[in-house]
Amino acid sequence: MIWQAIDKINRLARNGAPNKALQAAYNELMEAVQKGNEKAVEVAINEQSRYVAERITRTEMARAWADGFIAKMKKDADIVAVKFKLSSRHPGFDICDMYAKADMYGLGAGIYPKDKLPPLPVHPHCLCRYVEVIEGEVDMQQQRDQVREAGDKWLNSLPESRRAQVLGRKGLKAWEAGEDWQGYMRGYAGLREAESRLQMYKPVELSEKTITDKYQSPKGTIKEFQTRKVETATYDIHVSENVNLKPKMLAEVNRQINKCIDLLDVRNKEELPKIVIASNDDLNDALGSYMACENKLYINSETLHRKAYEKYLTTLENPASKNPLMTMLHEMIHWQDARKYVAEFGEITNPREYLEYIIAKHKKNVDELVKNGYNIKKVSDYAFDMAFKFRYDEVMTEYRVMRLLR
Ligand SMILES: [Zn+2]
Ligand SMILES: [Zn+2]
Repeated sequence: MIWQAIDKINRLARNGAPNKALQAAYNELMEAVQKGNEKAVEVAINEQSRYVAERITRTEMARAWADGFIAKMKKDADIVAVKFKLSSRHPGFDICDMYAKADMYGLGAGIYPKDKLPPLPVHPHCLCRYVEVIEGEVDMQQQRDQVREAGDKWLNSLPESRRAQVLGRKGLKAWEAGEDWQGYMRGYAGLREAESRLQMYKPVELSEKTITDKYQSPKGTIKEFQTRKVETATYDIHVSENVNLKPKMLAEVNRQINKCIDLLDVRNKEELPKIVIASNDDLNDALGSYMACENKLYINSETLHRKAYEKYLTTLENPASKNPLMTMLHEMIHWQDARKYVAEFGEITNPREYLEYIIAKHKKNVDELVKNGYNIKKVSDYAFDMAFKFRYDEVMTEYRVMRLLR
């Protein structure tokens, strides 16, 4: 029975971290969902919530259902997008109607990319659902962000009384005066990558053997620490003894590398750097660093706590980007520069020679920007500082980070 599975999931999820029992309960739920149809799920949830309303609310069950859906969606590469389906028993006219009708990403009415979902449940007692959109059903090349325009279009299609219902009187006035509906729509919490309490991360297993690593900061301080290889990682990842690497952080470093590969259009994955996850102290407060001679990329473990790092970035005065991918991308651009050099001139044996080459190469680009009236200060404080130190390689790396993540 669907509601039994959902109930079990909720009980297990309340007990903390995802585990095997939770995964089994989720499998049971998905099986039940697949056997019945959408309607049956809705009815089951409805009936049951009346029955055990005090113990498990309908909202909680809707949340559990969404958890199951999201966990499956994330694992299944055939699912390319998600359709937001309005419940036939929807209690009233509200934001859910917009989610179901507006074409916010150019993929069709109510269809969202996997990482830009309206969070479910949208509001208490919301029985709306996600429906899988499979590869071939939609042309993902058409994807473009038209959230604001699509919302405007939907609002324009409504009679005024309906508009006031979803925006409120004050919001309606503001919207009519040209403001973005996103600041006023009742129940709107943005479109984002959905998290599931059922998400299972790959466990972290480390090698027995340790390797001594030495990190030398730009100021010359040398820190020595032991590292172990992460046996369960997809890439060549090592971790310092001073870092307690959690499965979620390993998933994050993987996600970051994959995103960089996409953004930088990397073809040859064999040449990817050795990644060393080190502590803030190991790296003498540096967020990251790339060693061209050894093809080794150091990343500060603090940058792998995505939410906390994102928050930290908002406190900075003038960074190249506030995207938590920023540091990894910066170092991966250094990596890409170095690999281009190696392809042309062979392995880097003399770091000073390489540095001179790469600085001279990027000086031309910086000169070009400045000649065209570009203000380097606009890139980032770091880029501005580096321009004074004649580190044009750093200036252009920051410039590219800014352009890629804007
Ligand atoms: Zn709803
Ligand atoms: Zn740099």
